[in-house]
Amino acid sequence: MVIQEDRSLKDKDQSLVSPQNIDEADAFENSLRPKDFNNYIGQSEVKNNLKIFCQASKKRGESLDHTLFYGPPGLGKTTLSLILAQEMGAQLRITSGPALEKPGDLAAILTSLKENDFLFIDEIHRLRHTVEEVLYTAMEDFAIDLVVGKGPTARTMRLKIPRFTLVGATTKASMLAGPLRDRFGHVERLRFYTPPEIQEILERSAHILDITLKKDAAQKLSYCARKTPRVANRLLRRMRDFAEILHEGTITTEVITNGLENLSIDERGLDHSDQLFLRTMCEKFNGGPVGLSTIAASMGEEENTVEDMIEPFLLQEGFLKKTARGRVVTDQAFDHLNIPYTRQHKQL
Ligand code: ADP
Repeated sequence: MVIQEDRSLKDKDQSLVSPQNIDEADAFENSLRPKDFNNYIGQSEVKNNLKIFCQASKKRGESLDHTLFYGPPGLGKTTLSLILAQEMGAQLRITSGPALEKPGDLAAILTSLKENDFLFIDEIHRLRHTVEEVLYTAMEDFAIDLVVGKGPTARTMRLKIPRFTLVGATTKASMLAGPLRDRFGHVERLRFYTPPEIQEILERSAHILDITLKKDAAQKLSYCARKTPRVANRLLRRMRDFAEILHEGTITTEVITNGLENLSIDERGLDHSDQLFLRTMCEKFNGGPVGLSTIAASMGEEENTVEDMIEPFLLQEGFLKKTARGRVVTDQAFDHLNIPYTRQHKQL
C-alpha cells in the first residue's frame, strides 16, 4: 500500500510534546500504529462492522462505501483509515480540511486518484463551503463540475473521476453539513477506551519499543491516560525517560508515581490543562454556568482546544455537564480539587 500525505500529522493534539519534538513525535506515533484489525485494540463494534463491510465490498468486487469516523482526538481514526485501505488493498491519500483552501486543491487531488483509491480527509468539518461543494458530486456521481470561461460565456463541464472511497475523520460530527453527512454510507463513532484496553495498548507499545514495563505499572498507567491511546503512548515515552535516567530502565509503579507527579498528572489522569479548566470553573465562576468563549478566554486557550481536547474527557468522566445555559462542573469537580462548594444554584 502506498501512502501519500498532502499534510503532516503535526496539527494533532500535541500536549505532552514540546514543539521542537513534533516531527519526532509523529515518527514515534507512526511506528506504533497497528497495521491490521488484529493489532487494533478495542472498539470491537466498529471493527466488526468494518470487517463485514470490507468483506462484502470485496465479494462484490466494489470499492468500499464512503466512511466517516468521529470522536475525540487520539482515539484511532487515522489508524483505522490506514487499516481499511490496507484491508482493501488500496492506496491511501491523506489530507485535511484546513489544508484544502480552494476548490482547485481538492479537484487536483481527486483527478489524480486511481480506481478504488482511498482519500482520507482529517478534520473534515473544517472544509470550506466552496471546497465541500466539489466533494458532493465527487462522492455521489464520481465527477466534478468545472466552470470554463468567465462572465456570460461561462459554462459548466463535467469531468469524470475514478471511483474512490472517501474516509472522513472529525472531532465534531455535529458541525458537518447535512448534505455531506448524508453522503457517507458508513458512519462510525469511536469511544474512549477502558483501562484494560489502554493497558493492552501500553503493553503492545512497550513490546514494540523494547521497553521493560512491569504489569502492575502498566495497570497503574492505564488509569492516567485520559482513556486515549495517543496519550497512553506519549506517557509511556515520558515514563521511559524517567526509568532510563533514574531507575535503570525498568518502568515500575514507583517510576509511574514519580513520573506522573513530575508531569502534574493526577490519579484520575487529569493533566495540567484539565486541572486548570476545572479550577477556573470552580474558583472564578462558582462552578458555572459559563459559556465556552468565556472559559477559554479565562484560561488563555483557544475555544477549539477547550472544546475538542479538554472537554470531551471531562464530560465522559462526569466532571462537567453541558446545559442550555452553559458549562457547569459537577460536585465531583469540587471534591476532586478539594475546593469548598461555592455554587449558588446547586440544582444545576
Ligand atoms: P486520531 O486520528 O483519532 O486522532 P490516531 O489514529 O492518530 O488518532 O491514533 C493515535 C495513536 O494512538 C496512534 O499512534 C496509534 O498508534 C495509537 N492507537 C490508536 N488507536 C489504537 C488502537 N485501537 N490500538 C492500538 N493503538 C492505537
